[in-house]
Amino acid sequence: MNSEDFRHWSHRAADWGVDYRDSLRDKPVRAQTAPGDIARQIGDAPPETPEGMAAIFADFEAIIVPGMTHWQHPRFFAYFPANAAPASVVAEYLVTAMAAQCMLWQTSPAATELETRMMDWLRQALGLAPYFSGVIHDTASSATFAAVLTMREKALAWSGNSAGLAGQPQLRIYCSSQNHSSVDKAVRMSGIGEDNLVRIAHEGSLKAMRLADLEAAIVRDLEEGHLPCGIIACVGATGMGACDDVAGLSNIARKYGLHLHVDAAWAGSAMICPEFRHLWAGVDDADSVVFNPHKWLGAQFDCSVYFVRDADALVKTMAIKPEFLKNTRQVDVINYSEWSAPLGRRFRALKLWFLLRAHGLENLRTMIRNHIGWAEALAEKIRNTRGFEIVSEPVLSLFTFRHLGDGSGDIDAKNRDLITRINDDGRIYVTQTLIDGKFVIRFQVGGFETTEADADVAYAAICEMAG
Ligand code: PLP
Repeated sequence: MNSEDFRHWSHRAADWGVDYRDSLRDKPVRAQTAPGDIARQIGDAPPETPEGMAAIFADFEAIIVPGMTHWQHPRFFAYFPANAAPASVVAEYLVTAMAAQCMLWQTSPAATELETRMMDWLRQALGLAPYFSGVIHDTASSATFAAVLTMREKALAWSGNSAGLAGQPQLRIYCSSQNHSSVDKAVRMSGIGEDNLVRIAHEGSLKAMRLADLEAAIVRDLEEGHLPCGIIACVGATGMGACDDVAGLSNIARKYGLHLHVDAAWAGSAMICPEFRHLWAGVDDADSVVFNPHKWLGAQFDCSVYFVRDADALVKTMAIKPEFLKNTRQVDVINYSEWSAPLGRRFRALKLWFLLRAHGLENLRTMIRNHIGWAEALAEKIRNTRGFEIVSEPVLSLFTFRHLGDGSGDIDAKNRDLITRINDDGRIYVTQTLIDGKFVIRFQVGGFETTEADADVAYAAICEMAG
């Protein structure tokens, strides 16, 4: 592709992106395709000869777009949001054009130094103590994996990386049954083994880990010769937004010398508003915290930030320095690849810089407060509608409900049927979870372009489909 074509198609792609965003309200939120529909339209073998960009672009529009679920749709109420504010999209265009691999300070000093600044901007925005520093990961799963490796190595006095786990006492990690599956995965990948992930029962409306049960489990493990190494707390868990008592957990962590990691992948964004920080009170005593600006804050996916109290412990766990990765300058610089599992790194800080400057924290706070207000209002309307019940109260902007109808028959089956009808209808998109064995519909408000009117459409769609 020559420069003229590159310019033409870059303009075309940028125009397409704006038109796409402007047209989202007219599209069904969830892809309305059946398995295999898209694959059938794509050739079995790679082309031997070049094709023109016009044909490639036309196929993108004709084949790919109809098979996309529109995560930036203002009526996307499923899972958690993956907001990509236009300012962060523009930054990603630039990052893509430069296509730098930012593994070391010297492979792009601006990327490293901006990342350090952005981590500190976000630390301040969240009200975290000044001793936290951090790194940008792709996802919360990667950050939690780094946390689990760090807790493992701290407990083994950094011998696990070299000697392996054979012959070591059984390491134990504690979490609530509400934790995200990324915790299970991290424990598997760390070699600790999922059988050594101890799930603690929860209590109360926020389904927080029972502190007494946690302490009893740690004491029992110590008596049996196991080696407790860490606790993973959740603040805003995926199912219904469960929140652990971080302050209570940190007391236990200190008492037994355990690493406390806080997973606030979704809810972390809300902590830019001081009035919601009670949900993670005590967080300054944690050893590490992860949250995803790519979820609610508006930083184009992927962008997950990982704060640590002791960066040396993280680097000691993750860094590997073969000769070809050493800096030739004898100055003290950060190489962020030593803070995470992958060596290669995208330049993710630029989209945070664009986002935070283009919106300012005040506007982002207003967006989050609006979402929470609209979710609470919608939950109230559903509660007051005959035949519905709220199963879990709003935690920030997430609540769950189900349709009971006249109360007869198989309520779970009715709600499975209802959610299928809602999502086939296309006006909104919602997902499900199980709460105490009941099949419930999850509803979260979090779209960057969502308005109160979109929440009203959701109410109408839910009532119509249930009727
Ligand atoms: N933790 C929580 C509470 C989540 O809700 C999610 C995903 O939604 C994750 C972790 C995993 O996030 P990621 O996709 O960034 O790995």
